Amino acid sequence: MKEKYDLIVIGSGAAGMMAAITAARNGKTVLLLEKLSKIGTKLKATGGGRCNLTNTLDNETFMARFGRDGKFMMPALEAFDHKALIAFFREIGVESHAPDGYRVFPVTHSSSTVISAMETEMQRLGIEIRCSQKVTELSYTDSQITGAETLTDTFKAEHVVVATGGKGYPVLGAEGDGYGLAESVGHKVTEVFPAMMPLKTKEKWVANCTADTIAKVAITVNMKKYKRLKAQGDLIFTRSGIRGPVVLDFSREITPLLGKYEEVPVLMNLTKGMNEEQIRSHIKKEWAKNPHRNTLEVVSTLLPESVSRELCRLAEADPAVSFGKLEGRTRDRLISLLAATPLTINGHDGFKMAMITRGGVSLKEIDPYTMQSRKIKGLYFCGELMNLDGPCGGYNLQWSFASGYTAGLLLAEGKISSPQ
Ligand SMILES: Cc1cc2nc3c(=O)[nH]c(=O)nc-3n(C[C@H](O)[C@H](O)[C@H](O)COP(=O)(O)OP(=O)(O)OC[C@H]3O[C@@H](n4cnc5c(N)ncnc54)[C@H](O)[C@@H]3O)c2cc1C
Repeated sequence: MKEKYDLIVIGSGAAGMMAAITAARNGKTVLLLEKLSKIGTKLKATGGGRCNLTNTLDNETFMARFGRDGKFMMPALEAFDHKALIAFFREIGVESHAPDGYRVFPVTHSSSTVISAMETEMQRLGIEIRCSQKVTELSYTDSQITGAETLTDTFKAEHVVVATGGKGYPVLGAEGDGYGLAESVGHKVTEVFPAMMPLKTKEKWVANCTADTIAKVAITVNMKKYKRLKAQGDLIFTRSGIRGPVVLDFSREITPLLGKYEEVPVLMNLTKGMNEEQIRSHIKKEWAKNPHRNTLEVVSTLLPESVSRELCRLAEADPAVSFGKLEGRTRDRLISLLAATPLTINGHDGFKMAMITRGGVSLKEIDPYTMQSRKIKGLYFCGELMNLDGPCGGYNLQWSFASGYTAGLLLAEGKISSPQ
């Protein structure tokens, strides 16, 4: 153990390891502190163990998917975009590819490859890694960081990178410790919400539709003020609600609303975006092919049978009756339900099941060119800890790596940047 390091990195996730490697490659002495007994625990779980490292979008499109504050990422992405990330991993022996032309994975489709390559690189660079070291306090004097304290030790450095992640999936290490550390030195932390998770619904009928994935479902918030909130993708009904890629993406918009309103009404189009007119004409054609088919059979040409049966029930349309024999009003009800199926989101499983956290350390007090605190010299933030979150598809790891890279450059070298 050294008496003093150039840099202490707190947290061995994607952001922290990248910050440590970057600083060490620039000749700095680095200590990496991790509270769990192993490094990279969350990284290991990413992409269902396959690790969706990044995606092939250009920086503008990428940033737009993070919402209004996405522009904050510009300098970090310019310094370390997906091409730089792919090149970095190639250099340390991890080849990657994008089987769908969009999401990038290691060719091994194993996150272990990524972690062991980063660990080997950290060892090569002489980075001191200390696991089972939970940082409890940041040390500083006169707006200059001086080190960090763990439950058992005190470590000194003129630069400290806090890369402790968000609050989701606490079993994987990130439990929100970084918010307390940031607040303890005067940084603001926004309200945080669990995101990227399954959602629960008030309607119990979903439990009867659990078997199938429904492709290209469009979901819109059905509240006047929030009609602009939409998402599209595959959806799966569960025993208590909905899950699947579209739900994971949409949940980051819904959980803050649930905090405010307790229930969030949504409308789903389960028919690949067909409007009422298109549904009517599709059904007419299907029925004309075989007028003896009952309503359930006709509707099932659009949707899995279990879902069709539930929508018939909601429309009070007898599924066993020939579609032609349904009353006009009943047909209209059914068609309108097929174009826009209402659901009421009323819950979720909290941070326990949240793949990411919405909210975090306020961006206003961080310099996007260096990731340095605008309050304390030598203090840096990176990764999910900050108030930025992206959808599924390699966004959050790319951001963690890029911000870790930027922080690790220690560009500020202790100089404090002027407040915005
Ligand atoms: C199941 C799952 C799958 C995911 N899949 C993907 C995916 O495929 N692609 C993608 O882009 N994103 C994915 N994400 C999101 C992505 O994993 C995170 O956004 C990203 O890993 C955050 O990296 P980070 O370095 O900021 O934080 P983390 O990876 O959470 O690392 C923080 C580290 O800090 C340590 N720590 C916390 N507090 C302290 C303390 N007080 N002292 C010392 N150490 C501390 C933690 O133990 C942890 O190791 C997934 C998330 C989950 C949960």
